[in-house]
Amino acid sequence: MEQLNKQVEFLEDKSFSCKVRDWSGKKKRNLSLSEIYMMIKESYRKIHSEKFNRFFNREERSRMCATVLQFKKDTEQKRKLHQAYFCQLRLCPVCNWRRSLKIFSQVSKIIQAIEQDREHAYIFLTLTQKNVSGEELDQELDKMMKAWNRFLGYKKVKDVVKGSYRGLEITYDKESKITKRMYQEKKDYYKKLGLKVGNKNPNFDMYHPHFHVLIVVRKGYFTSKEYLSHEVWRELWAKAMRLDYLPQVNVKRVKGNTAEAVAETAKYVAKDSDYVIEKDLDLSMNVVETLDYALERRRLVSFSGIMKEWHKKLNLDDTEDGDLVHIDSEKDEELEGEMTLETYAWNVGYMNYVRV
Ligand SMILES: [Zn+2]
Repeated sequence: MEQLNKQVEFLEDKSFSCKVRDWSGKKKRNLSLSEIYMMIKESYRKIHSEKFNRFFNREERSRMCATVLQFKKDTEQKRKLHQAYFCQLRLCPVCNWRRSLKIFSQVSKIIQAIEQDREHAYIFLTLTQKNVSGEELDQELDKMMKAWNRFLGYKKVKDVVKGSYRGLEITYDKESKITKRMYQEKKDYYKKLGLKVGNKNPNFDMYHPHFHVLIVVRKGYFTSKEYLSHEVWRELWAKAMRLDYLPQVNVKRVKGNTAEAVAETAKYVAKDSDYVIEKDLDLSMNVVETLDYALERRRLVSFSGIMKEWHKKLNLDDTEDGDLVHIDSEKDEELEGEMTLETYAWNVGYMNYVRV
């Protein structure tokens, strides 16, 4: 029978610059998330909680995400996603990967437009505060969002900032003990606390929400009198956040290739490895539930000033809730000549996408 001789064809998707797109890796993590939602759902079924419905929906939606992918392909074998269903959940590994590609594309396009007049320069800001527990996270995010608006309203900031992109990232500390790698990265910190490798991690089960910000300034800013030192940025953020201590703030001038620099801000909210924790599913359930509630209905990314204006002028759609199929992750990503359609479906047996 012809059917049996037909070779199984797995999806091999590469970007125009030949970077492999790891669809199956992301889909596997998406299925792990769906399983975690299922476990949360079951725990609520037992106690007849109304929360059952919420997580029933989450499980279904995430499982259906990106199960069938249809691509357009040109004569040069270049491929572009044409049709797919994406669940749009805030924690979905597939959707978040698509969103970060989309943010990268949008920010790059905006910067290219601004660059035309060659009158601007760019700064990176990382704005942080102390770690918080899961119970405090939701409130802390409210505080940060308000603080961000206050911050943009300060005269000193207004004089300098011509436009900005702001993204929220939350990291979670899942290590109950201090690992070698952790110790090497923050030796001074642990030494000060008198802690060694293998000791209890003082930040275990804590959340670290922070903002990644790209700021557009005028070209002469770095030598002008409105220039703000690291100390001043730090004080302004502490004031906006109403903190009684000076938080960690990182300021960096963007040098050289701006597109590359932009990529650093294009992270989306949370790394899936922080909350899909295979070795500890109970912990995973806790983290997923905490983040799920805290991130609901929030604007996780925002543009202001000249960046917001260009976002509108360039007709870019909603960065978070908009289309995740046509994201134009690369400039000039245009197909040429005659097109064919290719469809791949997720195959549970192979745990991979198979041509259908
Ligand atoms: Zn999804």
